[in-house]
Amino acid sequence: MHELSLCEGVLQILQNSAREQGFQRVKRVWLEIGGLSGVEPDAMRFNFDAVTRGTLADHAGLEIIDVPGQAWCMPCGKTVPVENRFDPCPTCGSYQLQVVSGEEMRVKELEVE
Ligand SMILES: [Zn+2]
Repeated sequence: MHELSLCEGVLQILQNSAREQGFQRVKRVWLEIGGLSGVEPDAMRFNFDAVTRGTLADHAGLEIIDVPGQAWCMPCGKTVPVENRFDPCPTCGSYQLQVVSGEEMRVKELEVE
């Protein structure tokens, strides 16, 4: 499953941060998930619990922040909201869109001790 490897990636980030910043436990993780990233928040929650069991982030809370998809529409000359990767512009129907946000997934903040 896609989300499983993503969660392993998140755990890797937590372990690296722990080493760099010298904390022992992660209590809460804020994760930004873009609306166009194709990542399922529910699947992330499920896999996060499994992946972090017995690690520094055991029982850590996972807070998911949805980042709405946005794209630059050439014909409109402005940024428009998009819900799916290959949707047309909601204003003019053009497919000449350049995604500007919502494709990423990143760890935004950590609560540690
Ligand atoms: Zn448009």
